[in-house]
Amino acid sequence: SGTVNIQDLTKVYGEGDDELVAVDGMDLHIEAEEFVTVLGPSGCGKSTVMECIAGYLEPTEGEVLVNGEPVEGPDPSRGVVFQENRLFPWKTINQNVRFGPQMRNAVDEDRIHSLFGQMGLEGFEDAYPHELSGGMQQRAELARLLANDPDIMLMDEPFSGLDAMTKELMQENLLDVWEDDDRTVLFITHDVEEAILLADRVVVMTARPGQVKDVIDVDLDRP
Ligand code: ADP
Ligand code: ADP
Repeated sequence: SGTVNIQDLTKVYGEGDDELVAVDGMDLHIEAEEFVTVLGPSGCGKSTVMECIAGYLEPTEGEVLVNGEPVEGPDPSRGVVFQENRLFPWKTINQNVRFGPQMRNAVDEDRIHSLFGQMGLEGFEDAYPHELSGGMQQRAELARLLANDPDIMLMDEPFSGLDAMTKELMQENLLDVWEDDDRTVLFITHDVEEAILLADRVVVMTARPGQVKDVIDVDLDRP
């Protein structure tokens, strides 16, 4: 599972003179286990589309179906990562990573332990987010997301703030996670190289109001 069906999605912010059409009648189908990048100029509506899939925003018109069902609010099966991490600053990395499963009384110790290994965070369990480098914070954010075992990973420019070398390592890390665990990934970026490097398909959006301009199948050897 992990299909996403965006049908004639329109999102309008504000009213009257303040009305702003961010997304205008967008259609897109994402297969289960596909890695799709969304490329488009700043302000074209990428984050808005993602937040509609996440369930943080309600469409003005049209709908988003996940596994055939309309999205009704956020769900841990759809994990979100933003450019700036949303870790709780007053909680340790360990407390952050186990927060989601704890809320659902579903902490799997083995899984959490292996996530710390997989993300190279061993020894930093008791550190606070501000004590980690930017790259490690994003790895902690990924670990937090994966602790919920999401079918769908929604990533909004997650590596934009990182230096080139850290970014490359994070990209490899993400591809490993994706290849091992059969997850659907929707990855927003305005970096053309990153979009092509990571994806099965690149969705190119028009300038606002957002619509699909082109969908490109990528057939490159991954790093
Ligand atoms: P992108 O992610 O491609 O940069 P966004 O989805 O963030 O685009 O924004 C699309 C347009 O909608 C932009 O013009 C932005 O300023 C506007 N916008 C985004 N969020 C809001 C909001 N909460 N209220 C009003 N306008 C918004
Ligand atoms: P991005 O990095 O995706 O371009 P933005 O900086 O456009 O993100 O937006 C960051 C946050 O601010 C988002 O949650 C978005 O909804 C909100 N936002 C963006 N533009 C506006 C706006 N014109 N009015 C109100 N909120 C906005």
